[in-house]
Amino acid sequence: MEGGGTKFACAVGAGPDDIRSEIRFPTATPDETLARAIDFFRQHPVAAIGLAPFGPLDLDPASPAYGSITATPKPGWAGTNILAAFRRAFDIPLAFDTDVNAAAFGEFHWPPANRGLDSLVYFTIGTGIGAGVIANGKVVHGLTHPETGHVRIPHDREKDPFAGICPFHADCFEGLASGSALAARWGRPGESLPDGHPAWELEAGYIASALVNVILTVSPQRIVLGGGVMQRRHLFPLIRAKVKELLNGYIASPVFAGTMDKYIVPPALGIRSGALGALAMAKNYAESDRI
Ligand code: ZN
Repeated sequence: MEGGGTKFACAVGAGPDDIRSEIRFPTATPDETLARAIDFFRQHPVAAIGLAPFGPLDLDPASPAYGSITATPKPGWAGTNILAAFRRAFDIPLAFDTDVNAAAFGEFHWPPANRGLDSLVYFTIGTGIGAGVIANGKVVHGLTHPETGHVRIPHDREKDPFAGICPFHADCFEGLASGSALAARWGRPGESLPDGHPAWELEAGYIASALVNVILTVSPQRIVLGGGVMQRRHLFPLIRAKVKELLNGYIASPVFAGTMDKYIVPPALGIRSGALGALAMAKNYAESDRI
């Protein structure tokens, strides 16, 4: 189950080429939405379920609120314990992580092009920005989960006087470069801005800054960029060029030679990274008790 802020996707199967049934429906109230998801899984004989709702989540098994959505601005959802609701309904292994960690794990686990890697970072750049980090073959958790969508990035206020829209940090990465920021800065949705609009050069620069922070911190072998904003494929070459410029030859790796089109890539699983990631979580959890 991939539970997004606007829609939920539930699928039953054994892999990307073996999906037996799937549904998508809009995110409504927690009771209504979770009942619909539970009802779907009750109709199918499943061995394990991967639960991947939007965060932030309480992922600490020792916490009384383990399994809950925490500080979301989405009305009615803060404090909803998703894992507990499923535990009441199912007596099978239930893996639990954020939708973006699931998407990262899906991109890491399934695509043949990513076999043999042991690190990868997945960003979703849409209404908000999130990132899932895979290191040494595992989803990275710490105090909670990484919040790479909110890293600080350089903000030249002469070039871009926009204050940023993050309610916590104003001009963090999400505050400057999410789809919501694009719409607020330019007064219309990003989808309606033509390829040659100055918005994109600025956007590519912000994304590249965040990517450089991650490259320097985590040293991932691949970076996957998904989400609504990244549907604008012309951003990819702009971002790759800026990343190269910002790194300025500092990191000695052949991935930075040429066009970097195998290093900074769109999701191989398309819009199914999250749902297929939840499936990979369920599979791994059932087999090894952890993801
Ligand atoms: Zn922020």
